[in-house]
Formats: sequence, structure tokens, C-alpha cells
Amino acid sequence: MSSAGTTPTQYQLFIDGAWTDPAGGEWFDTVEPYSGEIWARIPRGKAADADRAIRAAHAAFTAGPWPALTATQRATLLRKLAGLIEDNADHLGRVEQRDNGKLITEVRGQVLNIAQWFYYYAGLADKVGGDVIPVNKPGVINYTRFEPLGVVVAITPWNSPLSLTAWKMAPALAAGNTIVIKPSEHASASILELARLAEQAGIPKGVVNVVTGFGAEVGDPLVRHPLTRKIAFTGGNAGGQKVSEAAASDFKRVTLELGGKSPNIVFDDADQDQAVKGVIAGIFAAAGQTCMAGSRLLLQDSIHDAFVERLVALTREAHIGDPSLPETQLGPIATRQQWDHVMRMINVAKDEGARCVLGGHALQGEGYGQGQFVAPTIFTDVNNQMAIARQEVFGPVLSVIRFKDEDEALQLANDTEFGLAAAVWTQDLRRAMHCVEKIQAGTVWVNNYRSTSFASPFGGYKRSGTGREGGVDAIKEYMQVKSVWITPSPRRDNPFVLG
Ligand code: NAD
Repeated sequence: MSSAGTTPTQYQLFIDGAWTDPAGGEWFDTVEPYSGEIWARIPRGKAADADRAIRAAHAAFTAGPWPALTATQRATLLRKLAGLIEDNADHLGRVEQRDNGKLITEVRGQVLNIAQWFYYYAGLADKVGGDVIPVNKPGVINYTRFEPLGVVVAITPWNSPLSLTAWKMAPALAAGNTIVIKPSEHASASILELARLAEQAGIPKGVVNVVTGFGAEVGDPLVRHPLTRKIAFTGGNAGGQKVSEAAASDFKRVTLELGGKSPNIVFDDADQDQAVKGVIAGIFAAAGQTCMAGSRLLLQDSIHDAFVERLVALTREAHIGDPSLPETQLGPIATRQQWDHVMRMINVAKDEGARCVLGGHALQGEGYGQGQFVAPTIFTDVNNQMAIARQEVFGPVLSVIRFKDEDEALQLANDTEFGLAAAVWTQDLRRAMHCVEKIQAGTVWVNNYRSTSFASPFGGYKRSGTGREGGVDAIKEYMQVKSVWITPSPRRDNPFVLG
């Protein structure tokens, strides 16, 4: 399907179990963020490719081996795929690392973790039972059964392509659906490699399809296709809104995992050592390019200055550079477009009067590849109405906001259109539990940051999205319930009265 060599690897689409060229015969370049090299060429799918893929997925859902398999047999195939992911973790990790510039240390962990997502949902595949319902009608049996939806379209962003695909693909397939995956135009290669493993695992043709290309050109036709039954989208709010509106016109199911402006609240009674590390992990991991980035540090007045001093000192020690080296702690920004956005937001913050106490500039020269780096940046004197406190930056930029007491911390934490995640650092259990209750976010961490698991739901309140990924209930996001009424011995007297 791809040819390695001195020239860039040229990929193909994966539709109906075959590696195929895009109908329009066009490819686009994908650039390694660190070196700036064009390392792969990605097929530029269009509406005709979307149509082919959806029709293939629909055919595989309605006929052929997939619908004939029991849930237990589907689970066996998913376990096989999980094993292949583990066997190929190094290769998958290197491809993704090259594609989006994420640290190799983080990507390796993520790849092993996605295998766990497939094992977990394989385990659930044959455990979704309905109920026998004690309806108030003599001689009638009523029960429910959960059935798959049909063709699921998964649309993912560039920051964690493999993880965010697995979060959708594992429950969708475990539930018995078929899938068309549309990865980000900035990071598609690892998803095409994953499709190769699905093929090797023996997942029947048409069950997994990958079409690459741009959102408007191929994503939109996938969403609007009349045979699409559900869209699972992760990305920015603008794209999420378009997808949601397009899906609504045809009453399609949608889950949306969108942006965030997550508060990381540090109280004066917190373990300061751990809190400083947690704040750094929250904002500088993945160079801030995560939806759950703790981009607003809410800091209690009484510890503000000393805490900022420690934070700045520890952040200064970060190893910044080539993300393929194991010692690197902060890598480049994934795309030039995103780098421009981060730099623009830094300048806006300066213009608004925020005080830059660390970074605030690009990093160029030796050790910084072709220069798509932003220095880890900390702004103090931020107020919660500034653009830097309200808009998602998706880069290594932290806004520090002061608060007096618990009430003010909670008011600031919730004064945002987003509600993806939040953290609270305190040793006072009462205070922690009060914050957990009052914070409007889909995830709240106490004395840690960025923990997630296939076994636990993840998703947003407010404008951070709808629906949940992960955990037992998420498989039902890919199923519909049927209520079945059985009358073993019908005895109807009056046909005009409801039974
Ligand atoms: P994006 O919205 O630009 O793109 C995401 C995907 O949507 C891409 O595959 C893109 O091609 C596609 N797309 C765009 N417009 C479309 C349309 N009209 N129809 C169909 N598909 C369309 O996002 P991005 O820049 O790739 O990723 C960054 C964003 O993702 C950030 O806002 C971040 O917060 C968010 N994100 C959220 C989570 C989460 O779980 N909540 C996780 C990671 C990233």
C-alpha cells in the first residue's frame, strides 16, 4: 500500500478492503514538524471517495460476514487487532511522532494504551444485554435489545490521531457497526497504518474504511451521506458546529469532543511540590496541544508569588527540541498554521496587558529543527475576561489568574464557555469535594492532572461537546434500543382499543 524510500511514502485510501487511489488522482504533502521535510503523500479524497467508502461500509453492515458474526466472534477479531497494535507499537508510534511532532515517549505510551481500548471494548461486546420489563399488561412479554446503528463516521484531529480514533473505533465495532474514518489532513498516516493492521487481523472487508483529505472536501460529504447513521467527531468548535448542523438536517446521531479552557486551581493548602509539577504537566505536556490542557492556572493570592517563582524555575529546566529523542520534554508545534495562531495569541495577551514572566517568543536555531517551536510561556496578571483566558490557544501558553477564596475560585473556574476538564489541588477533603460538586466540567481531577482511562467516561459540559467516550456506557453511544412486545396467546376482543 505504501512505498518507502528516499522519496516520500505515498499512501492510498483503504475502502472495501482494498488499497485504492483517490478518484480525483490527487495527493497532498504531509510535513514532519521538526525537520520541515515532506515525508509522506496523502490521498486527497473527495465526495466520490466518501460515497464509495460509505456504500462499502453499508454493504458490510447489511450483508456478508460481519452481521452474521456473534458479538463474541467480533470480540475475538478486536482482540487480534489489539495484539497486532502491541506488536507494531514501535512502528505506529514512529509514524505518528513523525507526522504530528509529538514526543516519542508520549506517543509510545499512547499506542500501547489504544491496544487496551480494543481489549476493553472486546470484553464488553457480548455483555450489552437488554431488560425484561415488567409492563402492566397481562399475558404480554416486553423486553429490550440493543442493536448497532449502521455506518459510523469517525472524524479526528491531528493532536492524537491514533488515540482519538481508537476511542471511537473500538466501541463502534464492538457494538457491531461498520466505520469510515476521516483523519485530520495534518496527520493521517498513522490511521492508514492502523487500517493495515485491521486488515491483517481479518476484520472483514468494508467494516473499516479510511478516507483522507480535507474537512470541507471529504469530511462534509461523509457527514451528509444519506447512509451515514452516526458521526463521532473530535476537533475544534467551528468544525464541530458545522458537523452538528449538517447532521441535524438528517437527524443523525452525533457525539462531539471539542475544545477546552480548563482551570487548574491551586489552593494555599496544596502540596506545592506536586502542584507545580501538575501545573507543568497540565499545560506543557504535548506543548499544550491537547484539548484537556490546564491553560488557566487559578492561584490563591497568599501563595501566588512564591508559586509562580517555582513554576518558572522548573519550567526553565525543560529539555526542548527533537521530539524523537527520549530525553526531550517539549517538542514543536504540529503545523505552521497552529504555530501562527499560538504566536498571535501571545501577542494579543501582551497587548491586553498580561505580564509575560517566561517565554513569549518563538524558538529558532540549533536544536529547534526548522523552527516551529514556541518557548514555554507563562502570563501573570491575567484577568478572566482577556482573550488569553477565554479562547483556546492549543499551545504551551499558561495564563495565571489570582483568586481570594474558594467562592471566587469556583466562580472563575466556571466563567467559561467550555467545560471539558478541571483540577483542584488541596489537602482539605471537604474543599476538594465541594469543588468536585460545583465545577461544571466533564472531568475533575483532585491532586493530579491528565489522567484518563478506557474504563472511565471522557467528554465535555457546555460548549466542550456532547456524549462521552470511554467506559461501559460509551458502547451505547453506538447502539439503539428496540422494545419488543410478545403476546404468546393473543386474546383481543375489541380491535379499536389499544392493546
Ligand atoms: P478541526 O476542527 O480543524 O479538525 C478536526 C477534524 O474535522 C479534521 O479531520 C478536519 O478535516 C475535520 N473537519 C473540519 N471541518 C469539517 C467539516 N465541515 N465537515 C467534516 N469534517 C470537518 O480541529 P483540529 O485543528 O484538527 O484539532 C484541534 C481541536 O481539536 C482543538 O480545538 C481541540 O481542543 C480539539 N480536540 C478535542 C478533544 C476532545 O476530546 N475534546 C481532543 C483532541 C482535540
